[in-house]
Amino acid sequence: MTDGRALAREFLEQQRLLGGDWVVLPEGPTPGLRPGSVESPAASGLTPGASPGKTEGRSAQNDSALPPPGISYDPPGGDLFSNDPVPQAGSLEAIAQLVASCTKCRLCEGRRHTVPGEGAADARLVVVGEGPGRVEDETGRPFVGPAGELLTKILGAIELPRERVFICNVVKCRPPENRLPQFDEIAACVPYLFRQIDIVKPKVILAMGGTAAQTLLNTKQSLGGLRNLIHRFRGIPLIVTYHPAALLRNPNWKKPTWDDVRIARRLIG
Ligand code: URA
Ligand code: SF4
Repeated sequence: MTDGRALAREFLEQQRLLGGDWVVLPEGPTPGLRPGSVESPAASGLTPGASPGKTEGRSAQNDSALPPPGISYDPPGGDLFSNDPVPQAGSLEAIAQLVASCTKCRLCEGRRHTVPGEGAADARLVVVGEGPGRVEDETGRPFVGPAGELLTKILGAIELPRERVFICNVVKCRPPENRLPQFDEIAACVPYLFRQIDIVKPKVILAMGGTAAQTLLNTKQSLGGLRNLIHRFRGIPLIVTYHPAALLRNPNWKKPTWDDVRIARRLIG
């Protein structure tokens, strides 16, 4: 990909899909790309209304170096001799069945439906959120409320239709009033997530929001400190970005999210 103008056009289309304003490109030849140039989000010039000249410079980032390595977390897998069914589950359906009858934490008390996750068993991307919200609890499906609609748009924008991705959450039952899942609830639920990732074996994991990022990387570092690095979960590249619900509250995070998602897209190939 060397056509800066086409890249800029693609980027702007994504900005529009993600809710940004249109930026009009000038007519005329495409200036040369600047391989290796790395721009900070603040200096990158594609805030709505940025000058068109800067807009084309921004597109050079697509050819720039990938972010440096971050945290590598390799939790132990199932013990072949244990009789815990979760690490032994052979399919996503088997996991969903175990989740459906799970009472390992207090979140089972208030749920209407468990939300194990959904998508392709051979997905190249696994997206991990925090936990089901109201609509997810009502339907048993992940990311189908307002945040889910935005996630679907984001995935469409990188040409990964929702059904080709595996989408799930750290906890599979809705926390009351959408509060943060508590540490013991996460600890009880996370073997399902780890096994789902083992079964799908994606090329990339996208952790959306602090809960997913901190759980999958076993860290307390802030989301801001975890972005823009290529972490690994059991060897699989993992990119951290904002949660779509946070984007609905703070549209300023849409552009950095788009940067993160494009990095994930490049790693998928
Ligand atoms: N937020 C999440 O983290 N997950 C969902 O499934 C929906 C909203
Ligand atoms: Fe079980 Fe997870 Fe639901 Fe807790 S949140 S009851 S661990 S499925």
